[in-house]
Amino acid sequence: MRNECNIIHDILPLYAENIVSEDTAEFVKEHLESCPACREELEKLRVPVDVRTKPQLDMNAAPLKRLKKALLMKKVQTILCTAAVLLALMLSFISFLTAPKYFTYSSELVTVTEEASGAVTLSFSNEVTNYKLQQVKDPDERQTVYHLEAWTSAWDRMFHKPGAQAVTVTPENGKPLLVYFTQFINGHAESSNDSSVCIYGTVPDSGGWVALAGLSLGYWLLLNIALFLILAGIWFMLRRKERPRRRVERLLIVPVAYGLGHLCVMGFRTVSYSVWRDFQLILATGVLFYCAMLLALSLFYSVKELAKW
Ligand SMILES: [Zn+2]
Repeated sequence: MRNECNIIHDILPLYAENIVSEDTAEFVKEHLESCPACREELEKLRVPVDVRTKPQLDMNAAPLKRLKKALLMKKVQTILCTAAVLLALMLSFISFLTAPKYFTYSSELVTVTEEASGAVTLSFSNEVTNYKLQQVKDPDERQTVYHLEAWTSAWDRMFHKPGAQAVTVTPENGKPLLVYFTQFINGHAESSNDSSVCIYGTVPDSGGWVALAGLSLGYWLLLNIALFLILAGIWFMLRRKERPRRRVERLLIVPVAYGLGHLCVMGFRTVSYSVWRDFQLILATGVLFYCAMLLALSLFYSVKELAKW
């Protein structure tokens, strides 16, 4: 029997695959009926054969797990992307609502009252919700000079912010007071004496104060355009090198994000009278746009990657 078993062992793989002649098959069958050892051997051979003929989808197989993970990541990225865009739009809407609306001077807007102490009280009408009082250096050093700005915003009106009421200014070292009211007509200070109205004191013969032109955010915008053009050039040169090109793309969206932030906060204006506020808002909005675009970029490449599968 041992000898026959050896012959059967040699034939078994072929028998399992059904590629033996009928006579051989008959011979193997007969032997198997009487030999448990060889039957066992055949079972062992058939296990992988069964897997091959009846493929089962294993939901926990490594490639499938990776695919599931990739799809989940896509979902998360899409959500984050949308959230960042919504936040950026919300922020620009808020910046639009809180944009200062400057008042032009009228005697009802600010009432000036002299106190016995020599101080002066400036009382605002209820429309005024914000003011800025700033002491400036007098070139002649003979007077105590103040600049006053008064404004409100759509936001303040909407939420009925109470009026700024009043503020008191005191002369310094006995130098007489001089108070100017700065007018921003249509959001632009006219660069003439008319834009600043003296509301208290005596304007010196030398001419008094000329309203400063608003500071420009246009330089930043130009700097951004220059940065964009340089990066676009680098991108073009690297367009066939996948890895460095993608790195440049991540930088390339920085000036684009800033530009979008500027557009949202300032529109097509570049001159601002509240530069710091506007700049901060542009940056905040820009950062959100950057996040959104970064996610969109990675989403774009992932979708491209998935399409290859
Ligand atoms: Zn046998």
